[in-house]
Amino acid sequence: MNSIARLKELSAEIFDFQNITSLLAWDQEVYMPQGAVNDRSSQLSRMSGLVHGKQTSQELGDLLKKAHDELDGYFEHDRALVRVMQRAYDMSTKLPAEFVTEFTQLTSRSVHAWVDARKKSDFSLFAPFLEKVVQMTKKQTELLGYKEHPYDALLDLYEEGLTTADVERVFDEIKQPLIELLPLVEKNWTSSLAPHDPIAVEAQKEFVRELVTSIGYDFNRGRMDVAPHPFMERFGHDDRRITNRYDEKDIGGALFGSMHESGHAMYEQGIGTDIAGSALDSGVSLGMHESQSRMWENMIGRSKEFWEFSFPKLQKAFPSQFGKMTSEDFYRRINHVRASLIRTESDEVTYNLHILIRFEIEKALIEGTVAVKDLPELWNAKYKEYLGVDVPNDAQGVLQDIHWSHGSIGYFPTYTLGNLAAAQIWRKYQEVDPGYVDTLRKGEFSKIREWLRANMYQYGSVYQPKELIRRVTGEDVQSKYLVEYLRGKYLKGTTC
Ligand code: MG
Repeated sequence: MNSIARLKELSAEIFDFQNITSLLAWDQEVYMPQGAVNDRSSQLSRMSGLVHGKQTSQELGDLLKKAHDELDGYFEHDRALVRVMQRAYDMSTKLPAEFVTEFTQLTSRSVHAWVDARKKSDFSLFAPFLEKVVQMTKKQTELLGYKEHPYDALLDLYEEGLTTADVERVFDEIKQPLIELLPLVEKNWTSSLAPHDPIAVEAQKEFVRELVTSIGYDFNRGRMDVAPHPFMERFGHDDRRITNRYDEKDIGGALFGSMHESGHAMYEQGIGTDIAGSALDSGVSLGMHESQSRMWENMIGRSKEFWEFSFPKLQKAFPSQFGKMTSEDFYRRINHVRASLIRTESDEVTYNLHILIRFEIEKALIEGTVAVKDLPELWNAKYKEYLGVDVPNDAQGVLQDIHWSHGSIGYFPTYTLGNLAAAQIWRKYQEVDPGYVDTLRKGEFSKIREWLRANMYQYGSVYQPKELIRRVTGEDVQSKYLVEYLRGKYLKGTTC
């Protein structure tokens, strides 16, 4: 048997074991009784160990070496499979087992400390843990290796090939335009949707199910359940599920959360059957994934025309809440813009400023140019400078996100990359469908989804993120499309 045939077998095996592990994790979030938490932790850790063993096996290492020698004779998809499997192998083998164990123990204590510190709104309780997390993360960058900047090693964990220089370039380009745009927009987009008269959860579920079906989420190969945090999870080529959460006084959360997760899931449901069940059967990176969740949630799902089509349905379903509202009024409310303290509650205009602050702080931490103890002061100063808001306490400031306690440094920039790519891909779609405004008005969303499937989704992880965006749009990631999109939408009232 040649190397690639055996690599495909191993890839299929790992894919199945990963999916089984995901099913256990999904069940824990969705159905599992709380009392079973110890059983499930033990099961999950055994499964992770099993997957890790397969991903780091001597056999796999040897096969990958051989495959590299044979690469020139391979088909494109097979070369891609070697690339993706090598990447997973490197990530799992570059860090010694003792390092991984120590880091896991540290972050699990660190999460507890973060929860406690946030509850008491006291950063000093979390600071000693974060100091250790930063120390170990610096060590991790040396173990993983990098060319120019240690932070590159961290970015690459989440977004293959992304560098600090790339992120600096895009933030340099959007920082000033966003800071200038915010006060202009904020004064005109003042009304919000919630709170409205309560809508029963069951009725919301029914509406949301129809909504995401209309944009193309396939319930024959997926399902939607309730969980404390919305997410998408894969259990196999034909099983991509989403979760959603509901608030009786704010249907917006369910509407846009479900479109966001459907965007993630439709990307994966669109992956070609030719790469089904292999390491390529997955969206290629967090940034590319987020481009699809954001595009469906925001560019499409918060457009005026989308609601010209969908608002009458909402009115019919909930006449006492929306019967007297116009589609235009609804549109303005779901696009409410306000500089706020909390990233997860922020809007399209301010979101990337929240990310910029985290990026600047993370980079300084890894470079060692800021001390952990000084973070609250630095955080608050940046919120004042970029968003014009005063941070009243640590809980609503530097302690708001769980990511650093998990040791996930380098993750945040993928959100902004996703937003930029979303605007760029959406712009490309407008070029190929100049009647896109009517496409939205008529609810012909399958036309958009089919174009995305043919040009992007079907490839899964075949192309690296940078190559994928070039293939879809003809150029590297640019910031100007997002800025133009935001200016058009919020200042000129156009769908662009
Ligand atoms: Mg997402």
